[in-house]
Amino acid sequence: MGDNSLKSGGSIEQPGMVPLSLKEATSLMIEKAKQLVNQLVDYRGHDKPPFLPEEYSRLVNIRKTQETNLGDTSALLLKFHDGYVIKVNQDHSQVRQNFSCAHEIGHILFSSDLKLEKYLHSIEYRTFNPRKTTDLQASDRETLCDAAAAELLMPELVFRKYLSTFGISIASVELLANTFKVSLQSATRRMAEVSIKPCVAILWYPWPKSKPKGLRPALRRQSREKANYMPVHNNVGLSSALYKAYQNDTIIKTWKLFKDGNTVKRLPVEAKGFGHGENRFVISLSFSDS
Ligand SMILES: [Zn+2]
Repeated sequence: MGDNSLKSGGSIEQPGMVPLSLKEATSLMIEKAKQLVNQLVDYRGHDKPPFLPEEYSRLVNIRKTQETNLGDTSALLLKFHDGYVIKVNQDHSQVRQNFSCAHEIGHILFSSDLKLEKYLHSIEYRTFNPRKTTDLQASDRETLCDAAAAELLMPELVFRKYLSTFGISIASVELLANTFKVSLQSATRRMAEVSIKPCVAILWYPWPKSKPKGLRPALRRQSREKANYMPVHNNVGLSSALYKAYQNDTIIKTWKLFKDGNTVKRLPVEAKGFGHGENRFVISLSFSDS
């Protein structure tokens, strides 16, 4: 309470930058992405999906998007005096290219529109290793751009409308992914994020990769500001129902134990395997209100 310089009416020098938490930075990014979605909807006169990255190009001064050979890189954003050029990996699937381009638009919002770079440097990381701090800043920036990409491709309100029509189910994940031209993984993540009904979505991958002895969760998402359910048993074995979903293409219905703090609950689970060979994975959905 003692520092008068902080309470001054603005005539005294600024006491430095107000730090921004990652949560606040995320809200700013999503807010900015929502403005872009609204501009696009006004421009085209309807809000029907898909929302493709090329439709946003004009709004953020992207001159062109080129499919090129990029090796392991998903996409690159190049800045010229008269606008941006996105180079996107020609070997990636169309839905992956869509996400990569939307992610690069996220970078434009991050740097040019919101100028968040300087704020990111003001976040205090609990590490004394400068290299680690740089890594954390970079990974936060990527997370923020992913959040913007999700909003651009799957605008919350529109996605929620389709979700309530389709209902929350594995079959809906496929319908939503097709409608919004995104990957099954992105649609699953988004479904859990925007769902009003409590829902836990998990992507499971074989483990170990070479000779699977079971499945492991690679990503867990659930509806915002609801209970925080974690599977009690993280790894599932070869005899589990989830592993059957991995082996067959049918939808498996089962029950699984979840914990939220000290509370353990048995929740209904619906799961299905997707993809082939090395890229095969299982999506499971659980509903915590039943
Ligand atoms: Zn990036």
